[in-house]
Amino acid sequence: MHNGVLEAQKAKGQMRSVLLLNGNWEVLDVIHWKRALLLLWKNKVRICEEFDDVAIHAFGVNLPSVLALKRLVVIPFGRRFRINKRNLLLRDKHQCQYCGCHLNMGNATIDHITPQSRGGDHIWRNVAAACRACNNRKDNKTLKEAGMHLRHRPYTPSKELVYVGYTYKPEYQHWAQYFTSEGAKSLMREPVSHE
Ligand SMILES: [Zn+2]
Repeated sequence: MHNGVLEAQKAKGQMRSVLLLNGNWEVLDVIHWKRALLLLWKNKVRICEEFDDVAIHAFGVNLPSVLALKRLVVIPFGRRFRINKRNLLLRDKHQCQYCGCHLNMGNATIDHITPQSRGGDHIWRNVAAACRACNNRKDNKTLKEAGMHLRHRPYTPSKELVYVGYTYKPEYQHWAQYFTSEGAKSLMREPVSHE
């Protein structure tokens, strides 16, 4: 099953992300396509939209582009968007928060401002995008100990981050309508099941 999926993706040369909506079609997160397929396989989500141009041959369907959870889940605001490199790069505008150099998925690291080994939490307000050199230099030290400074105060991103980060790309433009509550309501085709 997964081999077929991989081949389909490789052949297309693209690794699309999938928009995940809550049970009330509120934007929840952007997830990796593999996680999207896992949620589908577990029957946790319904498909709202598909990518017309990315087929999953093993399933005989297209890759979903928007999924909605069948249940309404309550997620604390601070945990809404998972801390991963992709989301962190969006928040920090692809810039090392210490030296200011340009970052991409290949050279970026997730720096814990107060190191986790020193009691720092894995939360948005304690992470910053950093290049490898700065991350190595900072090592296991606090900002003060390392004598380093952040260029921007870290914050917990909202769904606007995802909106700005993705919808400028042609393949994700159709996500835009999910970011207004009116738009999401008008798009809701099926009632949410409460199994
Ligand atoms: Zn740097």
